[in-house]
Amino acid sequence: MPLVSMRQLLDEAAKGGYGVGAFNVNDMEQIQAIMMAAKETKSPVIVQASRGARQFAEDLYLFRLIQAAAELNPEIPIAMHQDHGNSFETCRSAIELGYTSVMMDGSLKEDGKTPSTFEENVEVTRRVVDYAHERGVTVEGEIGVLGGVEDGHGAGGSGLDHITDPDQAVEFAERTGVDALAIAIGTSHGAYKFTKKPDGSVLKMDVLIAIHKRLPNTHLVMHGSSSVPKDLQDIVNQYGGKLKQTWGVPVEEIQLGIKNGVRKINVDTDNRLAITGAIRKVFAESPEKFDPRDYLKPAREAMKKVVAQRMTEFGQAGHAGDYKPVSIEQIAKGYKDGSLSTRPLVAK
Ligand SMILES: [Zn+2]
Repeated sequence: MPLVSMRQLLDEAAKGGYGVGAFNVNDMEQIQAIMMAAKETKSPVIVQASRGARQFAEDLYLFRLIQAAAELNPEIPIAMHQDHGNSFETCRSAIELGYTSVMMDGSLKEDGKTPSTFEENVEVTRRVVDYAHERGVTVEGEIGVLGGVEDGHGAGGSGLDHITDPDQAVEFAERTGVDALAIAIGTSHGAYKFTKKPDGSVLKMDVLIAIHKRLPNTHLVMHGSSSVPKDLQDIVNQYGGKLKQTWGVPVEEIQLGIKNGVRKINVDTDNRLAITGAIRKVFAESPEKFDPRDYLKPAREAMKKVVAQRMTEFGQAGHAGDYKPVSIEQIAKGYKDGSLSTRPLVAK
């Protein structure tokens, strides 16, 4: 199956009432882990690469691996997404490579650190939407600023510093025409999200629900949504790691989000923990081993397990065969003739 439009994938998820995990990749083993999980659970899937990942793996290596995944798994709809594009140029280069979706994170300036103004965000996102939609490519925007830093991207600080204002979210969606919208509701990137199990004082699910009520046709995206389960932290620490205890976003909160318009859930940290724990275990238990396959294979298996579990929890499992992929050219026509426009559908 060729790579599919993320918009189609999310529209189908909305119809089916489920969410789709978006898993970050940097190398072959991570891509294989995701595909093994998607195959096992029969899930459509979003694979995403940050700017850091594109640099680490080199664009062409990474993109060819995704193409291989699509070719080897014709029954699985796969969208390839640029995570946290910092500029029009980053998004343009992803689209030229063949990514079927891009995130223009205009909540920060091009340095990926300094919060931008609302007008700056609207302007750059609108420009990316025009360029991307003409080519049938999906666009995710961001309004409000997430906490933490990942891959050198982020404003740092607490997730509560720049919570999304629902009025601004509506104006932003109307003026940009984004397909999907990342909102800040208290989550942060990285492993250290919350210092205790999050409750309503730090995780603003009420803001998410308010935004969905006013923007029922814009797919909402939860970033920084690893659950950081204690068992994954424990394995890392048991074999010599030094992670401070931390709390992520509980799966039941994500499921509440999915009931209220969340269609894309970004997960990276949990997979990083699973991989690191598995590798540390081999190093600790079998220090005589030195063939990379001896630790990469269990690492890949550990990540596959986490991804398959999330796919089941988000509800995407079993939905891979629900629909036929629409070509990117057809999607481009839909944007042009207005049938895929999100803006006229905005609830006043
Ligand atoms: Zn993010």
